[in-house]
Amino acid sequence: LPEYAFIGRSNVGKSSLINMLTNRKGLAKTSGRPGKTQLINHFLINENWHLVDLPGYGYARVSKKEKKTFQRFITDYFEQREQMISAFVLVDCRHEPQKIDMEFMEYLGEKEIPFSIIFTKADKEKPKSLERKIEHYKKIMLEGVWWEFPNYFVSSATNGEGQEEILNYIEDINGNLKLG
Ligand code: GDP
Repeated sequence: LPEYAFIGRSNVGKSSLINMLTNRKGLAKTSGRPGKTQLINHFLINENWHLVDLPGYGYARVSKKEKKTFQRFITDYFEQREQMISAFVLVDCRHEPQKIDMEFMEYLGEKEIPFSIIFTKADKEKPKSLERKIEHYKKIMLEGVWWEFPNYFVSSATNGEGQEEILNYIEDINGNLKLG
């Protein structure tokens, strides 16, 4: 089954977003136990795709060796899972573009792994200011290695913003995969 991976820095709001996405009324979720013990959680959604919860990166207080092991774990996932259709890289909409996120997106780009950005915690910014932050992101990325700004979503786990858009986007891709 197709897999969609959710990833981002720790505390970006990944757990909250995944709860928001998977708790939608009428959506059948039959597996997945979010917990700190498992590195990867798979949620089977509507019997036809997996939402994959990857561990958060960017913990400040871990050793170099732990960082390496962790990085390896993530890159192994992306390079070995043929079912992985597209990733969602979560970034906190309030923050300046972070080096670690930029590097991770560049890694996905180099590997030609499709991804979208999700700007999380949108309820914490006024619309105008959110727009400015996204524009700033665009500017930084286009001045960097990118030819175009990636597909993106805006989300809030607090008010449900982005839920329909993200789920519809995934369902659309799944529909196209079926058509071959
Ligand atoms: P994770 O470490 O990426 O899984 O992040 P969590 O989902 O645990 O969220 C980290 C913190 O941000 C928690 O205190 C959440 O309550 C808060 N948070 C997460 N998503 C949102 C959101 O959409 N809006 C607001 N206002 N707070 C959020």
